[in-house]
Amino acid sequence: MSELSDRYYSVCHTIDEACKNASRNRSEVTLVAVSKLHPIESIKEIAACGQKDFGENYIQEALKKIEEMPDLNWHVIGPIQSKKTKEIINKFDIIHTLASDSLLAELAKRIPENTTQKVLLQINLAREEQKSGLLIEDIPPFMEKALQVKQIDIAGLMCMPPFDIPAETTRAYFAQMRKLKEKMETYYGINLPHLSMGMSHDFEDAIKEGATIIRVGTDIFGVRENQ
Ligand SMILES: *Cc1c(COP(=O)(O)O)cnc(C)c1O
Repeated sequence: MSELSDRYYSVCHTIDEACKNASRNRSEVTLVAVSKLHPIESIKEIAACGQKDFGENYIQEALKKIEEMPDLNWHVIGPIQSKKTKEIINKFDIIHTLASDSLLAELAKRIPENTTQKVLLQINLAREEQKSGLLIEDIPPFMEKALQVKQIDIAGLMCMPPFDIPAETTRAYFAQMRKLKEKMETYYGINLPHLSMGMSHDFEDAIKEGATIIRVGTDIFGVRENQ
């Protein structure tokens, strides 16, 4: 077995164990393999192991890969400039990073009436200035607008906690996300099936706190070259 598929199976095993420890059904957690800046050959190799969901940050790079492997499930997990919206319509299973009025308006304009696009709202719980995502107080006005866009299916929330904080602080952020999701479900009377949270260094804690989608790059593909 190659080093790459070795690492992939090891991540799968860790997910199995984390689900067991959290008394969660393994089918409740989807692994998105984050393949940004990695070549299509690596994606093909992991896909051959049975992996279906892949995450990309950069639209141009993603579109090329989607063209080569159209039958996989593709996720946008990076910020999207609203001028790129036209190019992403009907290409991705889930857009994880809806967080701006301008992107919302573009989606409303560009998605054909008879189709829907699954989206997650990116939340900036830690109020980090350099990161995108809605601040808590931005959520009500944003939801008011988003709920009126028939072509988007608001399927849950996504977050990326600060990187250099103690594990228990990260875990507290994850727990806060779960509570926020439950509050929003009650308040808006909608079902938000997904919580997209947890990366290579913290996905086990995310699973403990209710993540339904984890986004793992480095632990599967190794360190990214261009970083
Ligand atoms: C790159 C990226 C990941 C994957 O991070 P790793 O630490 O490599 O697992 C997950 N989520 C987002 C939003 C990313 O940009």
